[in-house]
Formats: sequence, structure tokens, C-alpha cells
Amino acid sequence: MKKANEVSGRKCPYCNEAENQVRAGKNRSGTQRCFCNKCKKYYTYAPKTREIPEEIREQAIKTYYAGASGRGVGKIFGFSKANVYNWIRKSGKNP
Ligand SMILES: [Zn+2]
Repeated sequence: MKKANEVSGRKCPYCNEAENQVRAGKNRSGTQRCFCNKCKKYYTYAPKTREIPEEIREQAIKTYYAGASGRGVGKIFGFSKANVYNWIRKSGKNP
């Protein structure tokens, strides 16, 4: 039997259980919180966990326009060059 508020496709980071994960409201920044009914722990479900901070991204873009290659920027900041090119495209400027 499934509960109405059961979250599908979520996994508990503590016990790896995919079932009995329920929504437990949101935290202050609007991130979905979940509760694991198995180990009775709360955790935040954050789809954007690996998001790179805006200022780092800006720095990377600036470095690119300062004359570094996309690959060079990637090496300096530790991203893939595809990432760097993506941001540059999104920044709306043409190299
Ligand atoms: Zn759990």
C-alpha cells in the first residue's frame, strides 16, 4: 500500500532505502525535505547539490575573456571545458 505523500524515486542517503520516503516540508531555502520511515531520519532532497556558485562561474567566464582557453579555464577551476563553454554561452556574450 502506498501513502499519498510518499516520494517516488528518492533514496535515503543514510540507509539507501528507496521506499517509505515521505515529503517533510521544505527548509528555509525552499529545498525539499524528506523523511525516511526506515531509519527515522530527515534529509534534504537537493537536486542541485553539485551546482557551482554563481561567483565562481563568473570568475571562470572572466578568466575566459581575459584570454584563457576554455580548456585552460577548466583546468584552473577544476571543471570540464564543456561546463565552461556552457556558461559562456549562457552568459550571452560571444567570444
Ligand atoms: Zn533511511
